[in-house]
Amino acid sequence: MRSMAELIGIEEARGRVLNAVSPLPAEAVPLPGTLGRVLAEELVAELDVPPFRNSAMDGYALVAGEGGQLPVVGESRAGHPFEGTLAPGAAVRISTGAPLPAGADAVVPVERAEAADGVVTVPPTRPQANVRLAGEDVRAGQPVLGPGVVLGPAELGMAASLGRAELRCAVRPRLALLVTGDELAEPGEPLAPGRIYSSNGWALAAQAERAGARLVLRETVRDSAEGTRAALERALAAADVVCVSGGVSVGEHDHVKGALAELGAEQRFWGVALKPGKPTWFGARGKVLGFGLPGNPVSAMVTFQLFVRPALLALQGAAPGAVRTSAVLAQPVVMSNAREQALRVCLDPAEAGWRAVLTGAQGSHRLSSMLGADALALVPAGEGELGAGERVTVELL
Ligand code: AMP
Ligand code: MG
Repeated sequence: MRSMAELIGIEEARGRVLNAVSPLPAEAVPLPGTLGRVLAEELVAELDVPPFRNSAMDGYALVAGEGGQLPVVGESRAGHPFEGTLAPGAAVRISTGAPLPAGADAVVPVERAEAADGVVTVPPTRPQANVRLAGEDVRAGQPVLGPGVVLGPAELGMAASLGRAELRCAVRPRLALLVTGDELAEPGEPLAPGRIYSSNGWALAAQAERAGARLVLRETVRDSAEGTRAALERALAAADVVCVSGGVSVGEHDHVKGALAELGAEQRFWGVALKPGKPTWFGARGKVLGFGLPGNPVSAMVTFQLFVRPALLALQGAAPGAVRTSAVLAQPVVMSNAREQALRVCLDPAEAGWRAVLTGAQGSHRLSSMLGADALALVPAGEGELGAGERVTVELL
């Protein structure tokens, strides 16, 4: 237990995490609460959208033809259809989105018509001009969205346009967050000598929420074997995912791995060939996943992004959500001989695609390197430097 076995790569570690996931069940969620949730049903349109043939313009509905002077016999407004049937040689004033009257098959925009004294002069028109057909966007019976889709503004809008007041969504994973360390103080408290404010409790909780988790427990745990064990016992009982920051290294005051082992959590890996993030621990007790993240604020956030977030998404039946592209380095970086690096970068558009610019100094304690970061640039392990202009893989944040 006191030394790490051979370090594994990011992909291997993420694979072991995803292997341990069994997706959570689904529940009905009222539409207003579905933003960011993961759809757990096949959404099939039960009606045409638009539901009826309507006008694309403000203007005059008519029967397509030669044009000329037509009597205006009524109006169709949005929400207030014209009730009669339109005969050739007459026109109905119509607003955008209003139903096309029976008999009509074209609309002349108001800009191209001249109206006076109940008569409108129109140019020649082709059938279907400025007409939107029923079902032109979505046809009744058409599958529109499927399980695993993360619901964003467009998906909510679509569900609403289909008349759905409720959607089946994956249950949100319950997350218990423990931050360990005798040195930790909470924002708002005075800072005693030797103490620091705990940033991980807040940054990790925010990352978890963004990934769809529900925080069911958050505790600051002091560096004692008993205290760590008791907190972990509460966490394992309350959550689908337990996330601990700090105390996973080989120091005398690192109690997390020992406590997890005592409580029956089975180690799946400890040690990733990753900088920052080397001492990351992952294991499971039954269906409950446990992550021991390094305490350094950047290491904690990076390993959350690379390993915990995919697990939270997979628990909800969504794709792990790691979006990768490539970028050229704006400046040389020193490689690490045994570990892949996850450098925090901004992405600038350049002629050859993206240019990755370091956010600043990259120490694992420098949380400012996360500010404004668009992506993690994955720099392979190696000797010497990787020069400016070299292309690397980047994983979007
Ligand atoms: P550890 O992994 O416990 O050895 O901690 C590594 C470093 O991260 C130390 O400098 C800790 O003070 C710091 N650290 C641990 N937990 C937190 C936290 N919640 N917020 C900010 N820094 C932390
Ligand atoms: Mg510590």
